Amino acid sequence: MQTTMIPAAPARLQPRGWQQHWREAIRDPRELLSLLGLDGLAGVSDAAAAQFPLRVPRGFAARMRPGDPNDPLLRQVLPLDAELRLVPGFSLDAVGDAAARAGHGVIHKYAGRALLVATGSCAVHCRYCFRRHFPYAEQTAAAAGWRAALDTLRGDDSLQEVILSGGDPLSLATSKLAELTGALSAIPHVRRLRIHTRLPVVLPERVDDVLLAWLSALPWPVVVVLHANHANEFDAQVDAAIAALRTCGATLLNQAVLLRGVNDTVDAQAALHERGFAAGVLPYYLHQLDRVAGAAHFEVPDHEALALHAALRTRLPGYLLPRLVREVAGDGSKRPL
Ligand SMILES: *Cc1c(COP(=O)(O)O)cnc(C)c1O
Ligand code: SF4
Repeated sequence: MQTTMIPAAPARLQPRGWQQHWREAIRDPRELLSLLGLDGLAGVSDAAAAQFPLRVPRGFAARMRPGDPNDPLLRQVLPLDAELRLVPGFSLDAVGDAAARAGHGVIHKYAGRALLVATGSCAVHCRYCFRRHFPYAEQTAAAAGWRAALDTLRGDDSLQEVILSGGDPLSLATSKLAELTGALSAIPHVRRLRIHTRLPVVLPERVDDVLLAWLSALPWPVVVVLHANHANEFDAQVDAAIAALRTCGATLLNQAVLLRGVNDTVDAQAALHERGFAAGVLPYYLHQLDRVAGAAHFEVPDHEALALHAALRTRLPGYLLPRLVREVAGDGSKRPL
């Protein structure tokens, strides 16, 4: 029975939580194109969208240039006919994740650090992502109160660093993350926490007071590795989110993927790393594309990637030069090109 005398606050006075921004993401390619004045754009594919649905937060879409079918942010999210082409060498498990799984949601490939597939969810769906095929539903680490993942981490005292990845680990509720870090803090060999997330860039509302309070209270040094591929992904709200993460003491890095038609020029790369630095982020990796089926049209050949990287070296200070790497199944680290 409802006994309270306090009336509910009018909806307009309630701050819109990040979950609401999440739910309001654009999911219909036609709506996105219409917002950008690009109705009827050729090459857009319902069949590709059926394989891996379009998903883009409205705030991210607002950073796309209206009327430009080649907008670098639009290209990252728009389902295209080109994805349906079968290209030799592009497969479903391009980075050997299926072979490296050590326990439920735990991928242990490299010395000293284990990666948790915390969740399969992402606020944005990036067309070039290996996630479009990975069978996440059955093996996320957050399932059953993180129990299987925690058992795996507890049982291997060589693991000093836990990397929260996914999917996007910040798509979980902060209380769910706190459940994990509370249990991790009782494991003496864990010394560092790393978070791989695109959310502060694509949905900066996620960096709210609850998240910041959790981060500030963690007992380890924290590294947040963001994922932005183009300078246009930054705006004032993203800058504010990054600044807030830094006030918690987190080290902020960025990893990008080298993508044809998005950031495959020296100018685009220089602008990305300069803009990131202005926001308080240092470049970490520039990844050669994982060769996942459906992403071949984004590939930049190695000789071109190397030439681009060499030109970038003559243009930027050393600390703004990302490491150009590829992930090779079975290797003990990312492989420099
Ligand atoms: C990329 C990756 C890491 C992190 O590697 P660093 O070189 O430390 O950034 C860890 N585990 C897995 C499975 C990875 O794919
Ligand atoms: S895992 Fe990262 S790259 Fe892949 S869809 Fe999610 S946000 Fe995009």
